[in-house]
Amino acid sequence: MVTLAEAVVKGLAADRGLFMPEHIGKMPKAFFNNISSMSLQEMSFAVAYMLFGDDIDSDDLKHIVSDTLNFDIPLVKVDDQRYSLELFHGPTLAFKDVGARFMARLLGHFNRQNGEDRMVNVLVATSGDTGGAVANGFLNVPGVRVFVLYPSGKVSRIQEAQFTTLGNNITAIEVNGTFDDCQALVKSAFMDKELNSHMMLTSANSINVARFLPQMFYYFYAYAQLMKAGEDLNNIVVAVPSGNFGNITAGLIAKFMGLPVKRFIAANNRNDVVYNYLQTGVYTPKPSVATIANAMDVGDPSNFARILDLYHNSWEAIKAEISGFTYTDEQIAQTLADVYRQRGYLLDPHGAVAYRSLQEGLQPGEVGVMLETAHPAKFKSVVDSIIGEDIDIPQRLAAFMENPKQSVRMPSAFGPFKQYLLSKA
Ligand SMILES: *Cc1c(COP(=O)(O)O)cnc(C)c1O
Repeated sequence: MVTLAEAVVKGLAADRGLFMPEHIGKMPKAFFNNISSMSLQEMSFAVAYMLFGDDIDSDDLKHIVSDTLNFDIPLVKVDDQRYSLELFHGPTLAFKDVGARFMARLLGHFNRQNGEDRMVNVLVATSGDTGGAVANGFLNVPGVRVFVLYPSGKVSRIQEAQFTTLGNNITAIEVNGTFDDCQALVKSAFMDKELNSHMMLTSANSINVARFLPQMFYYFYAYAQLMKAGEDLNNIVVAVPSGNFGNITAGLIAKFMGLPVKRFIAANNRNDVVYNYLQTGVYTPKPSVATIANAMDVGDPSNFARILDLYHNSWEAIKAEISGFTYTDEQIAQTLADVYRQRGYLLDPHGAVAYRSLQEGLQPGEVGVMLETAHPAKFKSVVDSIIGEDIDIPQRLAAFMENPKQSVRMPSAFGPFKQYLLSKA
């Protein structure tokens, strides 16, 4: 067993395994009775206190939670049976802001508490969205430096601007290779004894507990909003557009803490390894394929190990809780276009995957919540071509594009990356 501080700073356990909470406490009945009168910050603090209360002073925790959630997460009704939980009102317009902002503040806190002048170096590989959320979450956090590795030419201009224009303690490493190459560089860095003896390295990918656990907060908030809307609280189904399976794992843990979700849907694009597991009981990772919902292009989701752990490796228990759907790009585009035309609601490609799974997977009497994980303007060119319109880019997204790009070019071999990091030690 390790402390929260160790789990956050180290990211991975010594045996390269993922950290999990030792004990998952249940929220008291009074919490659920009062939930509809609580603010997002208040209920999130109550949940965070249950999870982390033994490891951090409660006033400090309250401050970190409030500071993380300085934007709303509204639940919007799209049709009679289906709601969209809009997770894109944060600084980089994607749900990853919640976990990244929380982790940054927690790491900053432990750093200050230790009074160490040792710099913590956060390494993060991104295929697009994670880089922006992590970079903005950690911007100007004292004692922390962030290196964002991304594949040159393979992320959108908007995505790239969100982590290459910030400067200060954020460095963008532009790798001449693929996302897999970036991930391999990060992994090699963590394994390299010499590097680790010179500098403290940690991961900000969703393997870090401080990034994936805060994603639990908004499941409770969705529930409170359904309560206010007078919906049947015994029949809630939550559909999560899933890639690395961090977001849905947070929802599953929320249910362990007592949140009355009837069942979950894991909605996938053509990257369907978990879908296949749910059908057959056999988990077979395979290389990812590129889709229009590209933040979910994952062939071997790292948080799947956490789901197996939660249900003690029981396929029966897992498929009783989670059902799977998988969709092609054509189906995703069709759903996005149809919902826009028929309901006037514009989904992004990831949300469209989840929405379609609710259209096909809800039983009569059930009420569906889909997690709308990003603002459609983040995928402007794809969305424009599907609906045949020129959609607006929100001002806070456009603002990123005004500053000049700064990046450090790097080949995909480990040697030069290691030398570069050592020069910063
Ligand atoms: C990261 C991401 C996902 C996938 O979330 P996981 O926690 O990796 O399953 C879905 N949609 C968007 C927009 C994302 O950025």
